[in-house]
Amino acid sequence: MTYTTQMDAARQGILTKEMEAVAKKENIAPERLMQLMAEGKVIIPCNKVHTCIEPNALGSMLKTKINVNLGTSRDLTDLDMELEKVNRAVDMGAEAIMDLSSFGDTQKFRRKLTHECPAMIGTVPIYDAVVYYHKALGKITAREWIDIVRMHAEDGVDFMTIHCGINKETAKKFKRNRRLMNIVSRGGSIIFAWMEMTGEENPFFQYFDEILDICREYDVTLSLGDACRPGCLQDATDASQIEELITLGELTKRAWAKDVQVMIEGPGHMPLNQVAANMEIQKTLCHGAPFYVLGPIVTDVAPGYDHITSAIGGAVAAMNGASFLCYVTPAEHLRLPDVDDVKEGIIAARIAAHAADIAKGVPNAMDWDNAMSAARKKLDWNAMFDLAIDPEKARRYRESSRPEKEDTCSMCGNFCAVKNMNRILDGEIVSIFDE
Ligand code: SF4
Repeated sequence: MTYTTQMDAARQGILTKEMEAVAKKENIAPERLMQLMAEGKVIIPCNKVHTCIEPNALGSMLKTKINVNLGTSRDLTDLDMELEKVNRAVDMGAEAIMDLSSFGDTQKFRRKLTHECPAMIGTVPIYDAVVYYHKALGKITAREWIDIVRMHAEDGVDFMTIHCGINKETAKKFKRNRRLMNIVSRGGSIIFAWMEMTGEENPFFQYFDEILDICREYDVTLSLGDACRPGCLQDATDASQIEELITLGELTKRAWAKDVQVMIEGPGHMPLNQVAANMEIQKTLCHGAPFYVLGPIVTDVAPGYDHITSAIGGAVAAMNGASFLCYVTPAEHLRLPDVDDVKEGIIAARIAAHAADIAKGVPNAMDWDNAMSAARKKLDWNAMFDLAIDPEKARRYRESSRPEKEDTCSMCGNFCAVKNMNRILDGEIVSIFDE
């Protein structure tokens, strides 16, 4: 039996090797996985050309996955440094890498990723078109935008952000309902400017069926981009954001009709009390398609700490239905992240994802925490380091302040509650004062 996409296979009842791998990893029955994939609630982004991929699935009932954004910019063009970040991100547990390169030979880097990297690879064709055609934005033709989508599909990209939700209608609504921060999506601002300058409809919306044909041919998953995501708390859940989400819901159904896998991109900046409601709105308007959130960043005042503001929002989002968290680094809003920023961002996103997995009841998610607690109870420091989400930092902190008594730490010393409880329950005398 033959199939085009993973969704097509699921609908035909064909268990692909990618589904088998995912079912084992997620501890889910293959039949259940296929059913969820046939309904569009679970996706396995894996381009047929990306043969070295270790497949992963996205879906609200599965383990929450994280994405790491990387890539060159006009101010930082060091490919080796970007590759070092990719390798480090994969080693640290990132399931996906988005290559957002916007300068230099972007195809070389993209192909290297899809030939060597086992993580899912995502791109944003809009950025690349501006670099590739090397001409003024207004001179790029509708055909040229779509040709870039084909080029990325041929290069083996597993998922692409396509800013197809901001059409002429959404743009009108946006202009009628002015915002504090306008449009902050890079791709959204580019396509909005192009529509304003040319007077034409968004080509990613107008030629959506052609894009679907390309995605179907290579099994590229569409990540329906949120050009109108709020860029500050004040703009959250406004008319433009919701109008675009309604369009994305309609486009989701059109993609599913052609067996193309879809996820929906989400906010953005958002007060914490709006996050859960936004997940519900998305699930309803986009028919349960997996939700990929960019943050959400829950306060605007913490440049240098936005890995924390986004982890808070990400945990609440994932607990309420988001499947996929885009990491945010401490460099957000300030500069391109360096290797250390990438590490901080990944750790923060993984903490958010893990906390959400426990809260939403992913089977065995808390085993890791229980193992850590058992090691803590025994004051088994080496086991604690091995289990730590960042063993290197945990070791470094302990080494930097050694306790007088090896089994405790310098926080409480002789007052170590863990040690004293173990001893008293073992029938020993606990003196504390003269020990
Ligand atoms: S000394 Fe205090 S902080 Fe350190 S392990 Fe014991 S109880 Fe925990």
